[in-house]
Amino acid sequence: MRRLLIANRGEIAVRVIRAARELDVATVLVVSEADTGSLGAQLADETVVIGPAPAQSSYLSPDAVLRAAKSSGADAVHPGYGFLSENADFAERVIGEGLTWVGAAPASIRLMGDKAQARAAAQAAGVPTVPGSGGALPPAGEIPADRLAALAAEVGFPLLVKAAAGGGGRGIRRVDTAEELSAAIAAAQGEALQAFGNADVYVERFIERARHVEVQVLGDGHEVVHLGDRDCTLQRRRQKLVEEAPAPGIPPHVRALLHDSAVALARSTHYVGAGTVEFLYDPAREEVSFIEMNTRLQVEHPVTEFVTGVDLVKEQLRIADGQRLRFGQEEICFRGHSIEVRLNAEDPANGFFPSPGTLEHFDLPGGPGVRVDSGFRAGATVPPFYDSLLAKVVVHAEDRPAAVARALGALAETRIDGVRTNLAFLSDLLRDETFSRHEHHTGHVETLLTGGPR
Ligand code: ADP
Ligand code: ADP
Ligand code: MG
Repeated sequence: MRRLLIANRGEIAVRVIRAARELDVATVLVVSEADTGSLGAQLADETVVIGPAPAQSSYLSPDAVLRAAKSSGADAVHPGYGFLSENADFAERVIGEGLTWVGAAPASIRLMGDKAQARAAAQAAGVPTVPGSGGALPPAGEIPADRLAALAAEVGFPLLVKAAAGGGGRGIRRVDTAEELSAAIAAAQGEALQAFGNADVYVERFIERARHVEVQVLGDGHEVVHLGDRDCTLQRRRQKLVEEAPAPGIPPHVRALLHDSAVALARSTHYVGAGTVEFLYDPAREEVSFIEMNTRLQVEHPVTEFVTGVDLVKEQLRIADGQRLRFGQEEICFRGHSIEVRLNAEDPANGFFPSPGTLEHFDLPGGPGVRVDSGFRAGATVPPFYDSLLAKVVVHAEDRPAAVARALGALAETRIDGVRTNLAFLSDLLRDETFSRHEHHTGHVETLLTGGPR
């Protein structure tokens, strides 16, 4: 690998450029017309403008990205997260052009990209899943009444109707009573077709007061290792806001089950590259259940990098280049505690509505154990076309209370003017006593906002 095309933008483009540079690989960054002045564009060895601002005609266009790869003489493609990163057809085309795909095999992407099939793969690998429908449901009108009643009885209420092709917290609908179920399935199928071009939905029991816990894996096609767990329970609209490693307060036997389950699932698919197996943890029952696998780098990968000392992006590049894993499971050690907060250009007081604009002040924190990943510098404009992530502020300290204190200090040093941000809101979350006692659950942010019972 000599010349890497990065098919993404923002902080993750910068992150991949930094890893490539350390491995002496040249970088080509594709940019939309809205991103020609981005930090990534400044840092890359070459940029190629691939289209207008809307992602559909730039970052989501396989044709535009492949043309840029050809014209720039790139020999490899890193898709980052989001956009084309979990598009198996795109991965196949990259490989078909004779380029190196820095990601999972297209067959793995396809399997796990269908969350109903992924559930079946997990069950086949002996991994516990959430009780639910066996696979994708037929169109709502064609489900016999007795089958619907049996499903409702088996799964119970509340339950979730989930789009098989959903992602980014989208395509999930809660149903509280049996009377609503058929209409909810019909509506979810229509919405899923509209949003993802695939009407498949499935049903899962809603696990109340659960924590979101996930396991990082790395595979090279021969061996699979895990790099421990992360907790991403603080979410708004099913999107993560605060992540930490390791997940606090998990009994050792449950943690071992999480790690073993993630490795078993990855092994069963001969997994190549970096991936994340996501679970829900029910503390009352000390039970974990698989929910999905993301076949790509995750936004929150830096907390794992802090506690393991492994550079996940460099490992991705090495694996894609055909190298075997450089360490076995026993060589991976865990040290201290890491917390990441997602600093977004959005207004928490107004439903987290995005707040694009110009960054008049953009003073970011520093000091021991503080890492900031951002795609912006002061004076830059945050475009309205993409997601609202401004920077990830990530800290590492000796234990969880020290990491919380360090994260609060880092946020106190941060000053951003020109756009509304969730800065103060993130500090409030870190100070929240339920979070300190790790008694929070995935609905906690919403209950805080509505002042409801915790
Ligand atoms: P992570 O666990 O890495 O945060 P997310 O599921 O939040 O993973 O996705 C990471 C990025 O990819 C986010 O920008 C999210 O909006 C985007 N994304 C993931 N899947 C989809 C999808 N199917 N449709 C739209 N956006 C998606
Ligand atoms: P996505 O592909 O959009 O990331 P996930 O299946 O990972 O979708 O679910 C996103 C979030 O929705 C989870 O982190 C959790 O907060 C919530 N969720 C998903 N499935 C369930 C479930 N069965 N019970 C309770 N919460 C769930
Ligand atoms: Mg998920």
